[in-house]
Amino acid sequence: MAEQTFDVVIAGAGPAGSTLAQRLAERGWRVALLEKKRFPRAKVCGEFLSPECQPFFAELGVLDTILARGARRVRGLELHGWKHSALGRYGPIGRSQPPALHGLALRREVLDAVLLDRALAVGGVTLFPETEMRYLIREDGAVRGVVARDADGDPVAIRARFTIGADGVRSRIAEELGVREPLAWLDKLALSVHLPDLAWGDVAEVHFFERGYFACAPVDGGRVCLNLVIDRADYRAAATRPNEFFQRSLEHAPALAERVRAPLAVARVTGLGPLACRTSRQTFDGAALVGDACGYVDPVTGEGVYFALVGARLLAGALDTALRAQRHDAEALAGYVAGRREHIAPRAAAARLLQRGLAHPRLARAVLATFAARPGLADLAVAVAGDYVPLSELFHPGVWSRALARRPASEPKA
Ligand SMILES: Cc1cc2nc3c(=O)[nH]c(=O)nc-3n(C[C@H](O)[C@H](O)[C@H](O)COP(=O)(O)OP(=O)(O)OC[C@H]3O[C@@H](n4cnc5c(N)ncnc54)[C@H](O)[C@@H]3O)c2cc1C
Repeated sequence: MAEQTFDVVIAGAGPAGSTLAQRLAERGWRVALLEKKRFPRAKVCGEFLSPECQPFFAELGVLDTILARGARRVRGLELHGWKHSALGRYGPIGRSQPPALHGLALRREVLDAVLLDRALAVGGVTLFPETEMRYLIREDGAVRGVVARDADGDPVAIRARFTIGADGVRSRIAEELGVREPLAWLDKLALSVHLPDLAWGDVAEVHFFERGYFACAPVDGGRVCLNLVIDRADYRAAATRPNEFFQRSLEHAPALAERVRAPLAVARVTGLGPLACRTSRQTFDGAALVGDACGYVDPVTGEGVYFALVGARLLAGALDTALRAQRHDAEALAGYVAGRREHIAPRAAAARLLQRGLAHPRLARAVLATFAARPGLADLAVAVAGDYVPLSELFHPGVWSRALARRPASEPKA
C-alpha cells in the first residue's frame, strides 16, 4: 500500500476542514486534506452565514471573493407561524455591535470551493481529491493516521502526528473513536431545493408549523434556497415521493406557498439518518474532531458554518502549540477543549433548548405571538442567533427592558 507522511491529516474539506488546513499551512505545517466528493459539490444547507462569520472570512482572505461570487446580503430574519409574523433585524444589542448589519447567503457549492481554493493557494496543503477516509491507523493506543481509498479505488496510508475528523455530521472518525451518539429525540430530515426567479426581499425566512418548518434564504444568482425540515417518522409515514411531500407541506406555510406557485422539483433529499448527534469527547491521543463531526443539533438557528469556522480557528492554535512542543497527546489540545467550552458549548446548548421548545407547538405559538407584539425581542433573538451577542449579555437588564418595550403589535393575519 502507498504510504505518505504529513504533520496533520484532515478528513473532510467542508468549512471546518479547509479553513483548518489553511490556518495550519500558514503556520508552516504540512497538511494532507482528504475529500471524498468531487468539488465543487453541493451540501444540503440553509446557506445562510450569520454576521459573525464575516470577520472570519476577512481574516482568511476570502470575504471579497465571497462577495464577488454573488453572496446576498441578508438583513434579518422573518419568523412566520400560527398566523403571526415577526421580523428581527441585525443591529446593536446592549454593548454588542454586529460586525455588519447583515449576514450573507451563498450556495455551499460556491462557498466551499472558495474556501478550499484559498487553502490550496497557501502552499503546504496537499489535497487528496475524491479520496475517502476508511479507517484509522492506531499504534500504542494513539491514532497515527488514516487508511483511505483514493480516486482510483486504491488504498493509501497517510500517516501524521495528528489526525483530524472534519468529516461532517456522519463522521466516520467520530464513529471509529466510539464517541458519536445520535440524538434520538431530534430524528429529523431535510428536503432541499433551489428556486430560481422567486420574488424575494433581503431577509431570510423561517415558516414554522406544527411538526416542522421551512427555512428560506435568498442566495447568489437570484435563487432562493428552501429547506423543509421535518421529523423523519412523519416523512416515512407519508410514504410518498419527496416532491409530493414538499409540495403538500407547503399547505402548512401559506405565507410561503402563495409565492411558490410552479410545481417544484426537489433536487436533493438528505438526512436519511438522524441530522442531530453529539460526541462525548473531541480530543484524543493523536486525533481531534472539528465542525459538525463534533455534533450538530438542528439547522434552525443557521449557526453551523460559524461553529465550523470558530472550531477550526481554536483547533489550529491548539495543534500549532502541541506540534511545536513535539506532543501529540490529548492533553496537549486542552486549549481547544477550553475554547469550545467557552465559544461553542453554550450556543449548542441554547440550540438544543430551542428545539425542545419547538417540540411544543403551543409554546412556540406563544413565543411567536410575543415576538410579533414586541419586535425588539425578535431583534434580540435574531442577534443572539447571529452569533455576535454573547449569551452573558442576556444577564444585563437594560437589554431586556429595550427588547420588551411594546411597540404596535402586528395583528394576527386572517
Ligand atoms: C438542512 C440543513 C440546513 C442548514 N442550514 C444552515 C445555515 O443556514 N447556516 C449554517 O451556518 N449552517 C447550516 N447548516 C449546518 C451546516 O451545513 C454545517 O454545520 C456545516 O456544513 C459544517 O461544516 P463541516 O465542515 O463541519 O462539515 P461539512 O460541511 O459537512 O463537510 C464535511 C466534508 O467531509 C467530507 N467527508 C465526509 N466523510 C468523509 C470521509 N470518510 N473521507 C473524506 N471526506 C469525507 C464530505 O464530503 C464533506 O465535504 C444546515 C444543515 C442542514 C442539514
